[in-house]
Amino acid sequence: MADQVKILVIDDEQIMRDGCARILSKNSCSVLTAENGSVGLAKIQESPKEIDIILLDLMMPGMSGMEVLEKIQALDDTLLIIIITGYATVASAVEAMKKGAYDFIAKPFTPDQLRIVVKRALERRMLQKEAEFLRSERERSLRDVATEKSRVKTIINCMGDGILVCDRDSCIVLANPAAGRMLEIPESRLLGNYVSQSNLHSELSRTIEDSLKTEESAYTSISQELIIGDSREIFLRAHTAPVRNDLGEVMGAVTVLQDISYLKELDKMKSEFIAMVAHELRAPIATVEQQLTVIIGGMAGELNEKQQQMIARAKERTSSVLTLIKDLLDFSKIEAGKMVQYKEPLSLAEVIPRVVEAMKADAAAKNIHIEFLPPLSSSIIQADQNSMEGIFNNLISNAIKYTPDGGRVTISLADDDGFVKVSVTDTGIGINGEDIPRIFDKFYRVKSSDTRQIVGTGLGLSIVKSIVDAHMGTISVESTEGKGTTFSVLLPKAADLAGCAI
Ligand code: ADP
Repeated sequence: MADQVKILVIDDEQIMRDGCARILSKNSCSVLTAENGSVGLAKIQESPKEIDIILLDLMMPGMSGMEVLEKIQALDDTLLIIIITGYATVASAVEAMKKGAYDFIAKPFTPDQLRIVVKRALERRMLQKEAEFLRSERERSLRDVATEKSRVKTIINCMGDGILVCDRDSCIVLANPAAGRMLEIPESRLLGNYVSQSNLHSELSRTIEDSLKTEESAYTSISQELIIGDSREIFLRAHTAPVRNDLGEVMGAVTVLQDISYLKELDKMKSEFIAMVAHELRAPIATVEQQLTVIIGGMAGELNEKQQQMIARAKERTSSVLTLIKDLLDFSKIEAGKMVQYKEPLSLAEVIPRVVEAMKADAAAKNIHIEFLPPLSSSIIQADQNSMEGIFNNLISNAIKYTPDGGRVTISLADDDGFVKVSVTDTGIGINGEDIPRIFDKFYRVKSSDTRQIVGTGLGLSIVKSIVDAHMGTISVESTEGKGTTFSVLLPKAADLAGCAI
């Protein structure tokens, strides 16, 4: 006990009070004295919870010790009372103990006897205080937990994002109102039900079940887009992650749902606008280009050298605007899901030479050596021919565009396990490591002194990536600045697609 122990001696004999006070003060106790029951009770009331032990004489004039005992107990029944009694009154001491006194000491007693009785009471008092401290700590922790729980519940219920929490048996243990609203399932149907029985979107159920089965201890979060509802479509983005305990065991899964319908709507409006503008521009610009071709061909009369140069420059610019328009139209088609429509068995060993052939003029204009290495694969893939031409057109024209005069562009085709691998390698300007993760983003163009003069939309690679994705393939890039770049496309062989919905 950190505080000094306080003992109250209630005895009508002064000699007894002084004797006890002297003996106990030596044991570093603080001793209060009272000459009768009323003074004693008043002192207890003056300093509640401060007195630890009371030495109480049973035989006192006026209010008897037994009466004082009862009143003390009524004030504070945790106080430890030691009865002081004469030999003749041991029986009443026993009665006092039955009424709740802790111990007794018979008169006359030696200082050591007093110390022993007080020491025993003090040990008991210490245990009492410790138990009280633990009880209040426990109550405080329980109160804190309850407050925290109610705070977290309020936060979760007020959140705009939907939250679903499942235990390890895939039973839904928490679902906030936003989750019910977004999934169009009443909260009561979610809470306490198994994922498989709660009418969740089938892809989401599968993801939750999968994440409950994840074994690797590395943090894994899966993001997916879901379309909910028949009459009005709601687009949701769902992030699901397993919850692990400190041993790394999966204890459940948490899913956060965001309504991205308005973003989708905005995106759709933008794509439609782009498609409309590109479409409206294509016809007049194509006409201008044709007219310029006619003029350059001399069919509208002879041109002097200066005029020839100016018209050629104008035609070049109109051609690049037409390329831009084509990219924008392709992009809108991909956005609308209309790009990859006719998949058929196809051999890239036949498609690529045609594309390379068409690129030869551009390469020659920059004195670039372009070469398609003898193909090491004649495997068949299931693909849309126009889209395949589009992919390699883009990659090869980029390779030519971003390679300085006199460089080299090499295209190779080989088998790679269940895939066909096409690599387009150039000896061009290369791509900075920081830009590599972004070059497949829509409209992303690397800004550097090397690229400033090169025209483009930043759409080519994002179109390529969408087409590759639609064919269940992958595209990767390796590059060293100033040395060159290799884009590799892996597309599954037709046999390996068996069983996949295409
Ligand atoms: P862009 O119309 O600008 O060529 P892309 O989407 O085709 O758009 O390419 C995005 C960016 O990636 C380009 O702006 C360019 O900086 C970089 N890039 C693409 N291909 C190559 C390449 N073969 N060599 C160097 N940089 C390249």
